[in-house]
Amino acid sequence: MARSFGGIDLGGTKIQAVIVDDDHKPLGSARRPTPTEGGPADVASEMEHALRDAAKAADIEPSKLGGVGVGSPGVIAEGNVTSARNLPGWEGSFPLAKKLEAALGCPVALGNDVQVATDAEFSLGAGRLYDSLLGVFWGTGVGGGLILDRRPWTGRGGAGEIGHVVVEMDGARCTCGRRGCMEAYAGRGAMEIYARKLHKDKGRKTDLFKLMKEHERTRLTSGIWARALEKHDKLATEILDRAVKALGAGIASVVNVLDVEGVVIGGGLGVRLGHPFAKRIAEEMQPHLFDDAHPPHVHVAALGDLGGAIGASLLLDPDSPAS
Ligand SMILES: [Zn+2]
Repeated sequence: MARSFGGIDLGGTKIQAVIVDDDHKPLGSARRPTPTEGGPADVASEMEHALRDAAKAADIEPSKLGGVGVGSPGVIAEGNVTSARNLPGWEGSFPLAKKLEAALGCPVALGNDVQVATDAEFSLGAGRLYDSLLGVFWGTGVGGGLILDRRPWTGRGGAGEIGHVVVEMDGARCTCGRRGCMEAYAGRGAMEIYARKLHKDKGRKTDLFKLMKEHERTRLTSGIWARALEKHDKLATEILDRAVKALGAGIASVVNVLDVEGVVIGGGLGVRLGHPFAKRIAEEMQPHLFDDAHPPHVHVAALGDLGGAIGASLLLDPDSPAS
């Protein structure tokens, strides 16, 4: 009998769960907001419920699954997640795999959220034509994942931090405490802080915050940025131009070292802004490429918002590079 698998993408704002068949085709999915209060046990409980919702949509019992993979932020080792600092009360270590196995009644495997999303694009999505791939996940921050010679490259555990490639010496302050990181220009969090500063302190006109209120959001989401662009909002356009330039410089610097065949742009902003922006990022990379006659192919993530969860489900597949 064909087996089904579960995947959970644990993000800072949402938990995305999916059930896939043994060809990794989605059979059902569900999404829940990530708790903003409490601690790891509360987050684990919401993850269990998101997976149960997805299983219900797919008409399968969680205990009948071949297993559930989880893409998580933080440091992952031996079924524990440590220092997932964008999640509530998660500074220490938590035995996430054991807790979810007990709750769901099937095996659970953990992987790094950005790496499993890159593995998914490599195996099933926009990167499947290549032997080497750089995944760039452009959202609140900017994460990176690597496939080199058809295998994931995680270094000593800390590889892929493309958001902290320096694009300007002594430049803008980054959430990591350093200066001039790509994320300090291109991360949605940094873009929002910059927009507020220019609007409130410098009196620059923008509809960004009006749109945010109209759509009952508390943050400048990817959708709000996209709408402001459609309305030709000058400040939003200017801040996104700056972000695209930073992405071009940062990604080109990584390509100069690794010479990957393909680059996949995913993440909330990457998926929302889509092909026109992937093309613009490729154009901004060009002046920084050492071997500018052979630029890598730049694509938008083909699996979209479900990529992280589908990638997590690959952790259970013995044929996948992720497992
Ligand atoms: Zn940084």
